[in-house]
Amino acid sequence: MLELKEGIFMDHQTSGGRFFTVTLLNIIITLFELIGGLLSGSLALLSDAFHNFGDAFSVILSYVANRIGKRSPNAANTYGYRRIEILTALLNSVLLIAVSIFLLVEAIRRLIHPQNVAGGIMFWVAIISFLANTLATLLLNRDSKHNLNIRATYLHLLSDALASIGVIISASLIFFFKANWIDPLMTLLVSGYIIYESLPIVRQTFVILMEGAPEIDFKQVEHDLLQIPHVKGVHHCHAWQIDENQIVVSLHLNLEDLPLSQTEKIYAQVEKILKTKYQIAHVTIQAECDRGKGEKLFLTGQADHQ
Ligand SMILES: [Zn+2]
Ligand SMILES: [Zn+2]
Repeated sequence: MLELKEGIFMDHQTSGGRFFTVTLLNIIITLFELIGGLLSGSLALLSDAFHNFGDAFSVILSYVANRIGKRSPNAANTYGYRRIEILTALLNSVLLIAVSIFLLVEAIRRLIHPQNVAGGIMFWVAIISFLANTLATLLLNRDSKHNLNIRATYLHLLSDALASIGVIISASLIFFFKANWIDPLMTLLVSGYIIYESLPIVRQTFVILMEGAPEIDFKQVEHDLLQIPHVKGVHHCHAWQIDENQIVVSLHLNLEDLPLSQTEKIYAQVEKILKTKYQIAHVTIQAECDRGKGEKLFLTGQADHQ
């Protein structure tokens, strides 16, 4: 998947025209490998085709989702549409894992009952796919010069190229030594690699959709807020993520019995700490005097109020 910005997304700076060329190239490689795989009987080519399909599909999904995600919040979706990207990233990864498991099972079946593979066809299809893939990589690289995650993207593309080279070497061995068992072995490696790169995305998106808390030191947050004058306690805190960049927090603050105009100043201080130190984008505060005083930071079953 080429969408590795912040671990999940593609480089959004990719210009429309080049994006179109790269995606088209990827789709052509996919079809080419698919036909080549069926003609030669090579499972390794088929699995590489699905890998390329996954890459192309995720780029298209990310592109569309990113456009939808940019829409402003409205009465129907008060948080906006950012989570479309999380949802599509999850769907795409689950789809890829499902295909990979199918290929893994088929590969094991073929290791037990070897089948003939036309090494010649496999070799030339793999060579042409490798060249087209390299061209796509070069086109994308020119765009990702200013991307902070260039390393992650680069590493992905490098391992993609290695997989293609693996298929080329397998094809040569099959052609010259009739070593048909190498084809399912290569399939195991490629499918395993697809699962390996998809699982972290499933985990990240799943955590966000489960309203999982971002990785923040909440004890330190509590400590920092208690340093603000007039703040006597913090409890009933919630933290979740709209997407991989936007953290939202709601909490109850126990304050001294101050006029409302004074509490506003405290709110400003709380927001400043949370924004600058913890990159929290949105904070909702409920101010209280004695209600819930001494309660835990996170709501437990015994809380005396919600
Ligand atoms: Zn890939
Ligand atoms: Zn409270």
